[in-house]
Amino acid sequence: MLELNGPTLPRRSRRATALLATGAAVTAALLGVSSVQANAVPTTAAATTATAGKTAAAAPDISVANVKAHLNQLQSIATANGGNRAHGRSGYKASVDYVKGKLDAAGFTTTVQQFTSNGSTGYNLIADWPGGDADHVIFAGAHLGSVSRGAGINDNGSGSAGILEVALTVAKEGYKPGKHLRFAWWGAEELGLVGSQNYVRQLPAAERSKIDAYLNFDMIGSPNPGYFVYDDDPQLEGVFKDYFATKNISTEIETEGDGRSDHAPFKNAGVRVGGLFSGADYTKTSAQAAKWGGTAGQPFDRCYHSSCDTTANINDTALDNNSDAIAHAVWTLSGGSTTPPTGKVFESKSQVTIPDAGAAVESSITVAGVQGNAPTGLKATVDIRHSYRGDLVIDLVGPSGKAYRLKNSSTNDSAANVTETYTVNASAETANGTWKLRVQDVAAQDSGHISSWKLTF
Ligand SMILES: [Zn+2]
Repeated sequence: MLELNGPTLPRRSRRATALLATGAAVTAALLGVSSVQANAVPTTAAATTATAGKTAAAAPDISVANVKAHLNQLQSIATANGGNRAHGRSGYKASVDYVKGKLDAAGFTTTVQQFTSNGSTGYNLIADWPGGDADHVIFAGAHLGSVSRGAGINDNGSGSAGILEVALTVAKEGYKPGKHLRFAWWGAEELGLVGSQNYVRQLPAAERSKIDAYLNFDMIGSPNPGYFVYDDDPQLEGVFKDYFATKNISTEIETEGDGRSDHAPFKNAGVRVGGLFSGADYTKTSAQAAKWGGTAGQPFDRCYHSSCDTTANINDTALDNNSDAIAHAVWTLSGGSTTPPTGKVFESKSQVTIPDAGAAVESSITVAGVQGNAPTGLKATVDIRHSYRGDLVIDLVGPSGKAYRLKNSSTNDSAANVTETYTVNASAETANGTWKLRVQDVAAQDSGHISSWKLTF
């Protein structure tokens, strides 16, 4: 976390905390997963649901042993590179390489974004988990670089390792989020939020508006820990508070780090932000020690920005609880499942005339309420009445506009009608959206119509 008198500390902005609806209502509103199929299609089509509404997958436990293993790696990197992992130093790039290697091996799509600060090249590492609704992004970030005075294990190896292990758990679980998941490790945070500012500045406005939430984790394993939740957005605050309530851990709103970490550029750009923090150089009060344990009258992190911020400077319980809370937020906000949605059927019974040797015609089905991408085995069942089926070329067109050929024309297929179920690998398509059956009669003398068609997810 940036020092209070850091180089380009943005102005602190405080605002009143809006009244927060409790637990279930907020969660339900955020998830939006309940039975929405019934009215999800236009009047020209009828939808049926073959299976009961799914509930969102619960977040798995995040292994604190794995989080600590990442911290050990970051400590080794610092030790091998002059004792730090600071911007412009070899230890920083080695840290990026370590995290990127883990993510690449797990199937993430990673991007390294370069920038220049203080005459040195800096790096942001961005990792996208393939799939989910690209128009709704749940984004978790942490700054990866340390100050030059130490290894930066609590600040901010802890947040970096926490979101790394959450990301790797997403992959290990084969999680299929409803919303798109993105993770980032920011460079040059300690020089004034430079990396995250660069990212936000370069992000086109259209992409920025797709970020439903940016969650920041800067210092989550402080040795004399507190449990602080960002209060910038009441819904996101509520997701974290719900989690800690289940653990009987009381929380306070986060104020020490306001404007002092990488959520600030996002917030300034109008993105909803949230996050967790376990305390830096503020002093723990006796009231806080009474509810959280630890030592009153001492800083939350007495090694903040100093050389003793090593792997010995971590409270394992805080690291564990906060890592699990990150997973809870990521799973809750992205509303996905660990098994592909199956059995939902969307049907159109609109009759569409197919002109003889004419232009292609289309019949649309609007799919809504299906989480994530379409399955590899999407079933397209068509009922086309036609006097010479060999004349017909049939495509399924996904929401992306990509056409999937179901049937080619044939000069020696003289049978009537097409009543078939085709299996399409449509896993590159977001399930929700407008799907079209496109039919063209490419030869003269016969005619017909689309009678009905349906998609089974
Ligand atoms: Zn810091």
